[in-house]
Amino acid sequence: MKGITTVLSAPGEVDQREYDLADPEAGEILLKMIRANVCGSEVHILHGRHPLVTAGCVLGHEGVGRIDRLGSGVTSDFAGHHLEEGDRVVATYFQVCRRCPECNRGQGHLCRNSYSGWATNADVAPHFHGTFGTHYSIGPNQFVYKVPDSVSSKAVSAANCALSQVYAGCETGEIKMGQKVLVLGAGGLGVCASAVSNRMGAEVYVAEMAPGRLAKAMEFGAHHAVDLTQAEDGGGRVELMRETTGGGADVVIDLTGVPDAFSEAVKAVRPGGIMVSIGNISPNKFTQFDPGLFTRSGVQIRAAIRYPATVLGKAVNFIESSPHLPWEDLVDADFAFNDVRDALKAAESREVTRAGLVIDEN
Ligand SMILES: [Zn+2]
Ligand SMILES: [Zn+2]
Repeated sequence: MKGITTVLSAPGEVDQREYDLADPEAGEILLKMIRANVCGSEVHILHGRHPLVTAGCVLGHEGVGRIDRLGSGVTSDFAGHHLEEGDRVVATYFQVCRRCPECNRGQGHLCRNSYSGWATNADVAPHFHGTFGTHYSIGPNQFVYKVPDSVSSKAVSAANCALSQVYAGCETGEIKMGQKVLVLGAGGLGVCASAVSNRMGAEVYVAEMAPGRLAKAMEFGAHHAVDLTQAEDGGGRVELMRETTGGGADVVIDLTGVPDAFSEAVKAVRPGGIMVSIGNISPNKFTQFDPGLFTRSGVQIRAAIRYPATVLGKAVNFIESSPHLPWEDLVDADFAFNDVRDALKAAESREVTRAGLVIDEN
């Protein structure tokens, strides 16, 4: 039997290639993919801006699939639910090797071998290292969680990156009941962050330079919208955020990926509060920063990169227990698997917030 996967053949160039489907080794799972999404970082990878996932690798890290074959020894997911062929599961897109210094310190989200599966050349078996394929091979060091029957594949398709990422970010911000949380950026991540911080009992403010995006964040649980186009410049944006939150938010979560927004986010925190940086991941982008002001503010700056693997289980539970939220709307345009180039193009041009690839919904 053969399957097809999507290979980054050169920066900016994508190829769909056929490979043999091998039986999974011990501890592995072979998935038949149902859906995958184009996450923002996929566009960076497409253009060769990822340090490890480069030309020759397989694209795709977000998505959901159905178990095609179980490797020997795999009988349950990481929450203890029994697994069998045909079950739908989601998996961490990275590995937690449990044998490196970071893992040994209990910081599996910083595992130095996190991408050793995904960053393997597509020509190397088991070939299906990414989610943009008819199949996806999950290694023994990726955490898998069964998808409850009540949760649709579309609703859960962004759980293993977008939702888990901001879930971990909200935990990093130590959000407490009744606190004011300012979510900076109302794209897919901002929408998820609005939902999670609302669930944690916060009063949620969401700020955005593209005000058209604010409505969806409100649907997902934000209480107040801050239209940053009302301000003239960076100073004005900070003032607007501080004024709206009554002197600064307890926790600001920066999801923008804009270096200047990082500096502005720190200034939008109340004295002694916490700023969580998630959006800025590209190296060699700079911003003016006032360390004296920062030190006097007593603000803590924290980074959230990837997530503790068990957060994926919490994210799935969160979707299951909040059916009132329009989870399926996180994916605002669907593309056929063969049209992966169009999906990437739509994501890059920001015509859509999150493009979905429909691979096999049966
Ligand atoms: Zn992602
Ligand atoms: Zn490790």
